[in-house]
Amino acid sequence: MTGTSTSVVIVGAGFGGIAAAIELRTNGFTDVTIIDAAPGIGGTWLHNTYPGAACDVPSHLYSFSFAQRRTWSRLCSPQPEILEYLRGVAREYGVADLVVPDTRIVSCVRESAGGAWTLTADDGRTFTADVVVVATGQLNRPSVPPIPGRESFAGHEFHSARWDHDHELRGRRVAVVGTGASAVQFVPEIAPEVEHLALFQRSGNWFLPRRNRPFPRWWKAAIRYVPGLQRWRRRFITEYCEALTLMIRHPGTLGRAGRLLSTVFMRSQLRDPEVRRKAWPDYTFGCKRILFSSWYLPALQRENVELTTEKITEIVPEGVRTADGRTHEVDTIIWGTGFAATDFMFPMEITGPGGRSLADEWSAGPHAHLGMTVPGFPSLFVLYGPNTNTSGGSIILYLEAQSRYVRKALQEMGRRAATGIEVRTDVEAESDRELQERFAGTAWTRCDSWYRDETGRIVTNWPGYMRQYLAETADVDTAEYVFHR
Ligand code: NAP
Repeated sequence: MTGTSTSVVIVGAGFGGIAAAIELRTNGFTDVTIIDAAPGIGGTWLHNTYPGAACDVPSHLYSFSFAQRRTWSRLCSPQPEILEYLRGVAREYGVADLVVPDTRIVSCVRESAGGAWTLTADDGRTFTADVVVVATGQLNRPSVPPIPGRESFAGHEFHSARWDHDHELRGRRVAVVGTGASAVQFVPEIAPEVEHLALFQRSGNWFLPRRNRPFPRWWKAAIRYVPGLQRWRRRFITEYCEALTLMIRHPGTLGRAGRLLSTVFMRSQLRDPEVRRKAWPDYTFGCKRILFSSWYLPALQRENVELTTEKITEIVPEGVRTADGRTHEVDTIIWGTGFAATDFMFPMEITGPGGRSLADEWSAGPHAHLGMTVPGFPSLFVLYGPNTNTSGGSIILYLEAQSRYVRKALQEMGRRAATGIEVRTDVEAESDRELQERFAGTAWTRCDSWYRDETGRIVTNWPGYMRQYLAETADVDTAEYVFHR
């Protein structure tokens, strides 16, 4: 099929999938299906329900440009509010009913360049589509490190992205492993409840202040009624985020200013010299995600919280053993150890014409033209794909840009009566080379992080500013693609 009757299956009903579906439906594409393994819309915001879960990019920017809300309760909205927003937008734009829930796609196969994709679910159901949009995100597979003895633990354990709300933490001795963006949000929430919290840190973080209190009434009223204020606010936050990227891109100059700001703030918060020594990061400002919290560092200095920087060597029935030979006795372990973001982004097997496997193609690390298209895989688009994560911006902007790009590519296919669109091998190789060069000299290259694969190549992050990504994806350069019939 060509033109707006092209059939499209979108895998993933999070922000990316919903953005793509809205873009396609509002531009006349009628045959759009969204498939998700989860029971409904939400993606990461459905799975991450840990105490204190909130976006860490201000909501006026962490929201669709075409569906701005003037009713956000705080600077960074809590998870239930974001989930409600996404569901509301999906309903408003008529795509909520396109979702096929509880369906885990395990394989996508395309026999010929001009043919169609066949998607198979784990229960054997199949779907066919001219075009597949993979919108499963980079952060969908919780990761627990392979620490020996884990199966011997006598207590209860769970990952922060699959919080066990039935497990009462009040009065318990709890271990938290990991001190990334998720732990920094839930540790201050659970610390006052638990009897003892043993927090295991491998690396410290650079912090900047954020209280994230509910907006005062006068501010909510101002946002609601003062013409242009909402737009100005979004613009301001955009520029603020771009300034963070500026610091990351120039660690020797502007990055030092950021580090100074963070140092002043952290010193003011970390009164206990021992905790300060342990919590202090030992890498360049901006190399890992800069964290915003005014509550996390004070929580580390509570009587019932102990920060441990000794390496974990083993899990034993009674708890966590560290390299100094100590056993930290706990009855609950919470893994705040992030996601398998770099090894392979898809929870499914993707096979292109000639039996070409995307897993093989990416065995040396994922790469795609503009993070979206891969040679050898016609009419396959990835949203939030390789090198499109942002350290200093809102992923929603990227997802909107990608959705527009996909829509324009499909319109071009329609104009040419083509049944497949595929990026040229040389174009993708060259754009990947250029992209990697843009990391040179940036803070991202100065430490080990989840942005890099085992070889050290940065495979998750975009090397520049949001505005550059928007500019580079504004139009589809048809010379970069082969159109199949
Ligand atoms: P993360 O940032 O990858 O943090 C994982 C933590 O686990 C790190 O402290 C890591 O230490 C530690 N860790 C990993 N393996 C370990 C091991 N074997 N032993 C001890 N510690 C270990 O994961 P996350 O906190 O879930 O956040 C992931 C990303 O999700 C964020 O960067 C952000 O993009 C996103 N996120 C966003 C929000 C938001 O918008 N509010 C909230 C949460 C997460 P190292 O630093 O040494 O690797």
